[in-house]
Amino acid sequence: MRTVTGGEESKVDRVGVSVIVLCLLLILGATVAPKAAGAYIPTLQIVGDIENALDIRGVEGLDLQTITYGDRTLHAVSIDELLKIAKPRSRSDVIYSAPDLAARVDASLLANSYLAFTPENGWEVLNFDHPTSSNIKRLEQIIAVAHELEWDDRITIISPIENIAYFSIGQLHASSQYVHWEYNGSATFTHDTVGYTSSVYTKSPAVTLSDLAGEADLGRVLVVGGSGEMAVYKGGMFLLRPNHVDFVAEGRRGMVKNVKGIILNSPVSSNSDAFHDALHFLGAGRSVLLVILDGFGYHQYAYASDNGYLPFMSSLGEAQRVLSVYQPVTNAGLASILTGVGPEQNGVMSRNQRSLTSQDLFEVATEMGKMSAYIVGDRQIINVSMEPVYNLDLNQSGSTDDEILATTLLYAKKDVDLVVAHFKDIDRSGHTFGDLSLQTMLTIAETDRYLEELITSWDGMVIVAVDHGMHSTLDGGGHGLLRYEDMFVPYFILEGGKR
Ligand SMILES: [Zn+2]
Repeated sequence: MRTVTGGEESKVDRVGVSVIVLCLLLILGATVAPKAAGAYIPTLQIVGDIENALDIRGVEGLDLQTITYGDRTLHAVSIDELLKIAKPRSRSDVIYSAPDLAARVDASLLANSYLAFTPENGWEVLNFDHPTSSNIKRLEQIIAVAHELEWDDRITIISPIENIAYFSIGQLHASSQYVHWEYNGSATFTHDTVGYTSSVYTKSPAVTLSDLAGEADLGRVLVVGGSGEMAVYKGGMFLLRPNHVDFVAEGRRGMVKNVKGIILNSPVSSNSDAFHDALHFLGAGRSVLLVILDGFGYHQYAYASDNGYLPFMSSLGEAQRVLSVYQPVTNAGLASILTGVGPEQNGVMSRNQRSLTSQDLFEVATEMGKMSAYIVGDRQIINVSMEPVYNLDLNQSGSTDDEILATTLLYAKKDVDLVVAHFKDIDRSGHTFGDLSLQTMLTIAETDRYLEELITSWDGMVIVAVDHGMHSTLDGGGHGLLRYEDMFVPYFILEGGKR
């Protein structure tokens, strides 16, 4: 009899099967002779800042050359050729890592470096150009450590007010201090009423939150995954996979795959609150105007407010600083505002998705018997449950925000319970001129005048939400990265009407 518990099913099955095979061999008293003496070849891994992780389990399939090194003649493979397959993400160093020794060399200088396997030395590096101290034997890993990386290819640690630190996967592999034994599953045989249980674990190098965050003040910590999922940290380990990092929560209470970074001191509020707050007011019989401003980071709001570019909004008090979504782009930010849930539930995590997999605000409002309008520019970015009111640039001002303002003011006079209007000029200006440029500040000031008209004309509640922020680039601005300028945005709830 066999009972199996825990882990993923497929893994458990495999564990179960190998336990059965092992047991059969033991029962039959069989021994398994290797195909040839010394046939066991340990796996050599190529890991770190590379696109393709490689597990080299033998010499078959490798492009072998015959080299003469000192008085030895060996079949060897060019390390340069292996790295071409692994594809380092940028100019790198490689670290040759053995159980008790490592050597670091520049990966661009490996034209005369080879890898051979011999029964005496295991995997062995043979460098013709480098000092012989870099000829590492019993090699276990070749770790590529990038000199420089794109923001998105590394793990970033941020808070609402700064980008604190970043790490490359290669750097983490080179410095990992912990071994995490990851539980795969258990199998039990019962013989004569005695249960014989075997649990199986796989070993993974790991780092802890304090390795990543150092001395920084932690507060509420979120672990952000590549698909936009965010988990509140309550203990756990960051497991170093060959070319990415997975987070496993303590007690196996979940996993975040392909970690993009960590947010420290994260507020509980996010721009998805707009959905819940709008429904709350609609439920209380109030009409709601939801103004969505595109690409307006909290740091831009604070700068504009401090420098007199937001006279009307500043007179109404301070905005709340809330979290946007990962990736901080319009599709995902809008989806969050209009569905009240994150990308893992609404299905929109990047510019590549347009279709929602959860109910939107208009759908729920309709179910409540409320009338809605969705006012956009000349196109819609995600598909919602109702047909939007489009606005063309009729006066050829180069923007549709003035037309959106006029249309929204018209709807303010109609008998509509929920109006959602999406203004885009701050984002466009941020892209062209930069997040804190004078031109963008003047656009923010223009939007402030629009907000004054809208809020004073609206007889009901007004929510101002923002899809994502904006950071400086060499030629203007951009967004879509796990950095504080993109991830934190202002949020307002106001009472409309004449002041
Ligand atoms: Zn944009």
